[in-house]
Amino acid sequence: MSCSKRKYNSENLAVEALIEARINFDTNSATTVYLCGDCGYWHLTSRGDTHPKLKAALDSGQIARQKLSNYWERKLR
Ligand SMILES: [Zn+2]
Repeated sequence: MSCSKRKYNSENLAVEALIEARINFDTNSATTVYLCGDCGYWHLTSRGDTHPKLKAALDSGQIARQKLSNYWERKLR
């Protein structure tokens, strides 16, 4: 069975994408990742509890800092 969602080979890659999505898209609401029973790859989802690594990135201010630096990078380009 094939999935229309973007596929990731590992949980780590999916979590990286989860954090990047939060940095780059204000409207992104994905909160965690899951191993898909249909295709066998990892997907992002907005259902379920916030992934601990995303939560840590939010709590530590990492995401806010990255957002700010992206903002200036775009502005100065
Ligand atoms: Zn799938």
